[in-house]
Amino acid sequence: MNNRKMVAGNWKMNKTLQEGETLIKELDKLISNPACAVVIGVPFIHLTTACNLLKDNKFIQVAAQNCADKASGAFTGEVSAAMVASTGATYCILGHSERRTYYHETNAILQEKVNLALENNLKVIFCVGETKEEREANKQEQIVKQQLQEGLFHLSAEQFKQIVIAYEPVWAIGTGLTATPEQAQEMHKYIRELVQEKYGDLAASTTILYGGSCNPKTAPELFSKPDIDGGLIGGASLKAEDFSAIINAQ
Ligand code: PEP
Repeated sequence: MNNRKMVAGNWKMNKTLQEGETLIKELDKLISNPACAVVIGVPFIHLTTACNLLKDNKFIQVAAQNCADKASGAFTGEVSAAMVASTGATYCILGHSERRTYYHETNAILQEKVNLALENNLKVIFCVGETKEEREANKQEQIVKQQLQEGLFHLSAEQFKQIVIAYEPVWAIGTGLTATPEQAQEMHKYIRELVQEKYGDLAASTTILYGGSCNPKTAPELFSKPDIDGGLIGGASLKAEDFSAIINAQ
């Protein structure tokens, strides 16, 4: 297995606990010996159940979709990185455009979250990507560079080994519009070059996922590109057959 390869699901705010259990049991049956790492990003309340249901499954790891930017204390409604880790989850998705847009998470806030996730031994799937307006103004590289520099590039090389980058053009998320494989490859190559400039040879082993309306039809061509190591999958991760078909596209 190329050890850069990964398919990660992002359930977002979907599935009751009971519905989540059903999906996890389906995935547990369907996904055996995948050609890539598999991660499912579930709502906080599903974390313990997901980790328990999958404790004998060597292939599927569990992620939270967020964590607090504070370690602990009087922050009503928040969930800390330590709490996430205590469930058995091994990943945390950070910087998703929905968090950046609806919950005003800036690169500075995300830097704190990344630090806390790593301090608690969570690996991070860090999302970057430009809006439609930014692409139309041809600013996509500038935006992605700034998100990486301000959210991640303060890390040491040792810390950076725990990072997966997900390029998710905002205009492609949940819209049915997928970046063309060429558009995605161009950005992934650029991201790998930025990682190379900052962390040298680590760039060759850094996993860079594509996200944005990726589905069983579009995944094979996207995943065939040299710098696209897999996908971060939203809508299509909610159906076991679709998610499993995307994994099989690796
Ligand atoms: C996502 O939420 O990360 C995502 C890529 O969503 P979708 O696949 O539904 O576009």
